[in-house]
Formats: sequence, C-alpha cells, structure tokens
Amino acid sequence: MTSGDYELLPALDGFFALDGGAMFGVVPRVIWAKSHPPDDSNRIRLALRPLLIRGHGRTILVDAGIGQKFPQRQREMYGVDHGHGDLIASLGAVGVRVEDVTDLVVTHLHFDHVGGATRKEQDGRVVPTFPNALVHVQRVNWEWAVKPNLREKASYLDENVRPHLESGRLRLLDGPCDLLPGIRVEVSDGHTRGQQLVIVSSGRRTLFYAGDLIPTSTHLKIPYTMGYDIEPLRLMEEKQMWLSRAAAEGWIVFFEHDPAMAACTVQEGPGGFSVKSPIDLTAAV
Ligand SMILES: [Zn+2]
Repeated sequence: MTSGDYELLPALDGFFALDGGAMFGVVPRVIWAKSHPPDDSNRIRLALRPLLIRGHGRTILVDAGIGQKFPQRQREMYGVDHGHGDLIASLGAVGVRVEDVTDLVVTHLHFDHVGGATRKEQDGRVVPTFPNALVHVQRVNWEWAVKPNLREKASYLDENVRPHLESGRLRLLDGPCDLLPGIRVEVSDGHTRGQQLVIVSSGRRTLFYAGDLIPTSTHLKIPYTMGYDIEPLRLMEEKQMWLSRAAAEGWIVFFEHDPAMAACTVQEGPGGFSVKSPIDLTAAV
C-alpha cells in the first residue's frame, strides 16, 4: 500500500504470548476468551508487527519487535515464536537489509517494541541491529526507561536502552512533531509516559500506528485497557480522542499486537468503536 510518496508494508518479528487477563484489565475472561483463546498458562497469542515505510530516500522502521536476545527461560515465559522467521527475515523478504534502515521510530522502549533494535554479539556485547539508523524516541520515554519505576521495571531492560546511547545515533524528541515529510509523531501517556503514535498521511490516505494505545482490534472498545497501562483513565480519553478522529477521517488503524489483523478502518456506533473494514496493506493500492 502507498500513502503519498511512501510505500507502507507490515513487517513481522514473529509472535509472543502474554497473560490474557493482563491484556484486558477488568474485562472478564469469559468475554475476552471468545476472541483470544488462552493456552494452558492463560496466555494469549500476540503479534510483533513493526511497520516498514519507504520513500523520500529513506527506509523507516516503526518499532522492532522482541528480538533474539532473551535467554531460553524468558523465551519460554513469553512464548516467543520465531518459527516463521524474525524481523530480519521479514525485512529480507522485501529486499531490506539491516544496513538499509535509515530511521527507527520507537513508540516506547518496552522490550516487545524495541528488543529487536539491538542484538547480542558472540562475545556478549549488545549492539544496534540497524547500524546506520537514527533512533527516534520521545525524551520523556527515554528518561522513564533509563530509571524505570517499580511497576514497569520488567518491561524496560537496560540491554534495550543503553546501546542506543552509546551509538551516537539516538535522537530524543520533545513532544509531537513532523519527523519527515508526511510522517508525524504524537504523544500518548496512558500506557507509559511518552509513547509515540505515528501518523503517515498523504492527505488522501492516513495510517495511524497505534502502538500500545490500541494493541489489538479487540481493544477498539474504549474500556478494554491493559493491566499494564499506568493510567487507564487517561488511556481511555486518549483512545476516545484518536479513534473519533480515525473514524471521522477514514484513517487506517494499524495494530502492532493483533495476531490476525494488521490494520482496519474503524466506525463509531451505539456500541462504541468497531472494525469497519480490514485492510490488506500488502495489496498494491
Ligand atoms: Zn506492547
């Protein structure tokens, strides 16, 4: 799919699994289990779906998945599944090498969004996966990740943060801004502080990369927040605001963690927001 001069393609760093209860907060299991059947450990399958944007001489990646650094114990705990390939394989399938990536836009520094942006060398050193990429993160989120609070300590890992500081290619952003022509970042604070939402817009077609504001299409319902969200009420207000706009302006909403649907347009009805039409981003339109 294209938006103006940009080509948009979903990438995939495989799948992982998180506790279903944690993914749906106060929603009872009997309800969420219908659309997300849990495994024996009560975990649900989730995608790790970065977005590849090519145009204006740049190769831009939004988020980088979970990566390959976890030892076996964590791989099992999080049900990491690279059985059909990881992010590097997914990029390779469309002719993108790690050196080609010019920009990495990180929604936030939780391990399932930025783990794949670094890799472990044979000698144990952790280095950036994309050696030439500028890494764009909100300053507030960076500071939050460097000194994580007790609640988010397990999500912000030093090995996912420090190598970017040492690379000299870290670009800290202070609030919403136009990152590149037609690519804007906005800021959301309900899931964690300083999460970036990425909006690619040509005027005619707009794609909204919703990150963990709306991780799956099931989370289109405003009260469906995650146990991980640091401020659920704030998240609900942010979701209401962005989805109202997405529905009114016909935006394509992109889901980073939905195991089955990469993107859709949305509609607002008496029951709240819902999927209007699934969108196949790999179609040539
Ligand atoms: Zn996430």
